[in-house]
Amino acid sequence: MRVRSYVNGGWHEARSGFTEVRSAIDGRVVAEVSSDGIDFAKALAYGRNVGGNALRRMTFHERAEMVKRLALRLADCKDRLYELSYDTGATKKDCFFDIDGGIMTLFSFASKGRRELPNARVAIDGALEPLSKEGTFVGRHIYTPREGIAIHINAYNFPCWGMLEKLAPAIIAGMPILVKPATPSAYVAYALFEEIVRSQIFPEGSVQFVAGSLGDALEHLSGQDVVSFTGSHSTSTALQSTAAVRENAVRFIAEQDSLNAAILAPEAGPGTPEFDLFAKEIVREITAKAGQRCTCIRRAIVPSAYLDEMQSTLVGRLQKVVVGSPRDEHATMGALVSFAQRDDVRARVEELAREARIVYGDPVHVNVAGGDDGHGAFMSPVVLRCDKPLAAKAVHAVEAFGPVTTLMPYEGIAEAIAIANRGEGSLCASVFGYNADSVDEIVRGIAPFHGRVLVVDRDCAKEQTGHGSPLAPLVHGGPGRAGGGEEMGGVRGVFHYMQRTAVQGSPQRLFTVTAQWNPGAAEDPAPRHPFEIPFESLRVGETFRSATREVTLADIERFAEFTGDKFYAHMDEAAAKASPFFKGRVAHGYLLLSFAAGLFVKPELGPVLANYGLDSLRFLKPVYPGDRVRVRLTVKEKTPRKPEYGEVRWSVTLFNQDDDVVAQYDLLTMNATKEHVPSAVIPSEANAVSVVEESVSGV
Ligand code: NAP
Repeated sequence: MRVRSYVNGGWHEARSGFTEVRSAIDGRVVAEVSSDGIDFAKALAYGRNVGGNALRRMTFHERAEMVKRLALRLADCKDRLYELSYDTGATKKDCFFDIDGGIMTLFSFASKGRRELPNARVAIDGALEPLSKEGTFVGRHIYTPREGIAIHINAYNFPCWGMLEKLAPAIIAGMPILVKPATPSAYVAYALFEEIVRSQIFPEGSVQFVAGSLGDALEHLSGQDVVSFTGSHSTSTALQSTAAVRENAVRFIAEQDSLNAAILAPEAGPGTPEFDLFAKEIVREITAKAGQRCTCIRRAIVPSAYLDEMQSTLVGRLQKVVVGSPRDEHATMGALVSFAQRDDVRARVEELAREARIVYGDPVHVNVAGGDDGHGAFMSPVVLRCDKPLAAKAVHAVEAFGPVTTLMPYEGIAEAIAIANRGEGSLCASVFGYNADSVDEIVRGIAPFHGRVLVVDRDCAKEQTGHGSPLAPLVHGGPGRAGGGEEMGGVRGVFHYMQRTAVQGSPQRLFTVTAQWNPGAAEDPAPRHPFEIPFESLRVGETFRSATREVTLADIERFAEFTGDKFYAHMDEAAAKASPFFKGRVAHGYLLLSFAAGLFVKPELGPVLANYGLDSLRFLKPVYPGDRVRVRLTVKEKTPRKPEYGEVRWSVTLFNQDDDVVAQYDLLTMNATKEHVPSAVIPSEANAVSVVEESVSGV
């Protein structure tokens, strides 16, 4: 297969400079890769101008919708990707992680993008900051897409997931991308990218693909561009020192190699579930993807008293591992991606063996299911043992990116923590134990050096997802050596592709810039009660002001009787006065919320379908018997959810007779679109609205 590139609006076929890529299983040439002849400066400009302009015209929701459509599309063409991936040495299980995991990541980003970002082109960060006494000058942080291009340089181990986990946040943020897969598995990434191009989901210029060298691309980067790199520490350091990257302060996100640790807690001796879970996890980690995972456990830290027992347990489990071709259904571990990679791992094991001894496996010889004809990059799992880990260096610094781990003993929790932290910053670590005191102490001790800490015990054993859980909306990235602490997990990943800016001005200007109404901005008097207006016709800023209602002592007592809430501040004058906050008995906060609803709710069947909850509720001033309250209800923000309905965020402010604010909150409702407003007659199939997946109650 000749792997092509996709740049400047079309496929580019190189004529020279090919690198042959061989099957990890049988050594056949499976692909030829070259990027010769690409004009990189032109491709970058094309992405920025054509793709970037098109993406920036869309809202976060529109872009997230495209990511979802891609996920649906890819779900239909998985078979080809699986078949190609076997030649990278990946077993069916490994492929599931890469291909299905990648598709699930798209779904997850698309859903989070629509839930956690507005249907707008500007994202808001944090609350409005008052900057003046009279409230006419305020400030707020916003995020807007960077106007450059994002170059995604990926590692070879997960050609699909690696591409998709970076594509989704960049596209949702509104940045065009240029993907550069690693050469050893570029043909799998290419097959995936061909499908992306065929789908025509993304606007012209927003996605480009370069197989092979990146040529002089990095030399043309500007301060609006982003590089997101996954790979080794040494390549990362070299790329970051490119003159243009350094001089133009190009944002460089690095996910690098990592000497991850697993610690068995002092009380988790032989016979406890955690001891067995630890052994099981080590074997799973070093055999999945033949240990070529950035999250793989490289250092297994065990109380010295149990080290021998742990070693023999691991050996017993590893003897059951069947190394072989992914196309052989008996194989439980595949091959390394290439001979070069296997040579590299063998060399690293030699380095490690200067400080540790091999207690299982042979880095040179391996039994391959069905026989080894010498053409596959197979390797046996290898366990080393380092008895003096605090005196050792290589075991904490040399990453053998294959089925390799090192056992090491510790005496006391402080020593276990010190050993784990010798990795100088890792993606993740795990702690296996059930004793709260020691587990808590270990977690606190290792957290500053790790992006993620996984605590495994008998309670979560069945459902825990292991060191490498790419689907979790949690931090993916680590401090120090592992990359510098960039947080890629969840929707936070989107913000790497945007610029955070402080905007200061009048409340009205902040409203128009952010498309979210805030107090102090103009109120748009509603032509009719806003509860009568369908979702798409409601205007942000539309305001309803209620009549006034007196709060009486009888109301407070009835509410106390009815709900059973007889807290002294509502029922006992003397006790209430003893509180530093009250001059006497006060109304319940929940009574005020109920009265507020009574003042603004329009009871008839109409567009408002359900109450979805309250946010940011504050009771700011006590309400005493005889006080009179009224409500201002303003449409603060609208978020489309489904064709049938959308979410409306209302700003609700409760005032007393002196115009003091006594309570403030955001109310969330689900409102029907015009076509789906329920009618007074029995709803037909067509206009019955399903909100089952939202947690809602009546208004
Ligand atoms: P690598 O050799 O560092 O290569 C990574 C990427 O950089 C590849 O796409 C490679 O392309 C590219 N590259 C190399 N030199 C370049 C240059 N001068 N200009 C532009 N691009 C260049 O790493 P790898 O062998 O693919 O992957 C294994 C490493 O990745 C391990 O160390 C592992 O720990 C790490 N990793 C980390 C994470 C994480 O999330 N932290 C995840 C996965 C892997 P070519 O293949 O064409 O050379």
